[in-house]
Amino acid sequence: MSVNLASARLWRGFPQAILACVAVVAVAFMLPSEGYYLNILMQAVTYAIAVSGLVVVLGYCGQISIAQAAFFGLGAYGVAIGMVDYHLGFFPAWLCGIGAAGLLGVVLGLGSLRLGGHYLAMVTISFQQILTLFLTNWLEFTHGPDGIRGIPRPRLGPISFEGGHAFLALCMVTLVIVTLAVWRLKTGRLGRAMQAVRDNELAAGTCGINVFATKVIAFGLSAVLGGIGGGLFAGGFQYISPDQFSFGESIVLLTMALLGGVQSPFGSLIGTMVLIILPEWLRFLKEVYLAVYGAAVILIMVFLPDGLWGLMLERVRKRAKPILGDVPKLPLLSQTGAARTDFVLTIEGLAKHFGGLKALDGISLAVRRGSVHALIGPNGSGKSTFINVITGLYKPTAGRVVFAGQDITHVPPYERNRAGLARTFQNIRVFRGMTVLENVMVGAERPGNDVAENPAFVVERALAALDFVGLRGDAHREVGALSYGHQRYVEIARALAATPQMLLLDEPAAGLNLTEKHELGELLKRLKGHGLTILIIDHDMKLVEQVADHITVLNFGKRIADGMPKDVLNHPDVIAAYLGEPQEAAGAAS
Ligand code: ADP
Ligand code: MG
Repeated sequence: MSVNLASARLWRGFPQAILACVAVVAVAFMLPSEGYYLNILMQAVTYAIAVSGLVVVLGYCGQISIAQAAFFGLGAYGVAIGMVDYHLGFFPAWLCGIGAAGLLGVVLGLGSLRLGGHYLAMVTISFQQILTLFLTNWLEFTHGPDGIRGIPRPRLGPISFEGGHAFLALCMVTLVIVTLAVWRLKTGRLGRAMQAVRDNELAAGTCGINVFATKVIAFGLSAVLGGIGGGLFAGGFQYISPDQFSFGESIVLLTMALLGGVQSPFGSLIGTMVLIILPEWLRFLKEVYLAVYGAAVILIMVFLPDGLWGLMLERVRKRAKPILGDVPKLPLLSQTGAARTDFVLTIEGLAKHFGGLKALDGISLAVRRGSVHALIGPNGSGKSTFINVITGLYKPTAGRVVFAGQDITHVPPYERNRAGLARTFQNIRVFRGMTVLENVMVGAERPGNDVAENPAFVVERALAALDFVGLRGDAHREVGALSYGHQRYVEIARALAATPQMLLLDEPAAGLNLTEKHELGELLKRLKGHGLTILIIDHDMKLVEQVADHITVLNFGKRIADGMPKDVLNHPDVIAAYLGEPQEAAGAAS
């Protein structure tokens, strides 16, 4: 069944793609045969392919790259050097260029391990400059600043691409395929992982996504697309030189992507067309044309931050309909009725120091399977730090974390999630650029989850999780459009969709109004009824008393009490440190 589903998915949209290819080939051959039109289109089409690479790396994955012209150049030089100097056929030479671009793209992506934002931008610029230096100065290999002339066009069996129309048709078909592939990527598992990394790296990691690998893949793919476009550019113009792949061109490619809308390959396509065709249209303005062109670009960018495509999409989104259908039947919680005797999480001597501050100072505790374990304490007592260390966001200064029999003290966050540890954050960390359903799908797609490999089941599971928290009717909405309280529920649903063994909730009631707090209490009771192990931090004592089987109290990073709720809440140290007068205990901290 899953094989059928997978192949059905693979072929979905296939007839439309064939139609689109036939249409563009027809258009290519209907063009006037003057070189001028052919050249402008050839440039627009090959650039558009490279720009779609920026959609992947910047639009989907949120990583700035100011080196797309360099990858475009690698593809072009691959074809030029391969064909002219090494007498390879066009297609093998093209592959070499694409391979070189992809390889260097991965290398550049490795630089994103410790760098982000401005620093990553600087690294990509440096890479771009180094490549330009190579192209200009390595005379024996690249022919230097004079460039390479007489690049032949290919034949493929009986089909000749030597004529302008035929080669343009090849470029256009490639563009159609690339655009559709990039578009499909967005709605698939990898594309969703990229968007999760873009929207919130920390949360993505705790949802089972290997953030670093995802970024490297995005850089690699983007470079490959640059190489594909560049190879066709070389064949199209039959002459290339280093200045065509300079820093300035990288900026042009970036502008095209941003102008059209970097979130979508259709947006980037529009941006590319506009930036290549607009100056041609404006030529009649003679001296002032560049100024008018520049002003037009600036105005579009200022008034349409999501690009031209974003403008169109806004209208489409307004018409999005709720996702209906039967209540999904996929089981949400897998370990109902699990034995309640063993400890699922054991912490020994856990410490976390920030410089001189001992946020955690030798904490030991054990969480029984199937129980609700509350962690309380005054502000700044180390509760969030505790969860951050357990989920791998902080490295402990000392101590050991054993989860489900496995020592996870030094395991990265995504592997802890894959082992069955899911969490929510004190400060909400949802993926803002995605819909409610997509947010929860990211949770369901954690590698190793029972449904992860099957897109249809992933949707079912996500809907089941949304159903559980009462947000099924909002599945199609942008997550940012929900109330604060409902965004918290989205986070809980995202965690549940991963069918965790244990759920860590960091102040889930913070910022909720009274009705929402009541709903949360009911939700927690239902989860508890299913036998899910929960570690909850909260200040709302009513809520804690309602659900907790066991309470641990922290103060200044130390454990000051641990045990059954009624004993702990009446413990003199706890009263002194945290609750004030015992009679007021129930209401004081809410
Ligand atoms: P709680 O969640 O119990 O309110 P936290 O765990 O957030 O407390 O913080 C415990 C202490 O650790 C606080 O004094 C806080 O300022 C400090 N702290 C937390 N995170 C960091 C950090 N990343 N860098 C430095 N100090 C931190
Ligand atoms: Mg906290």
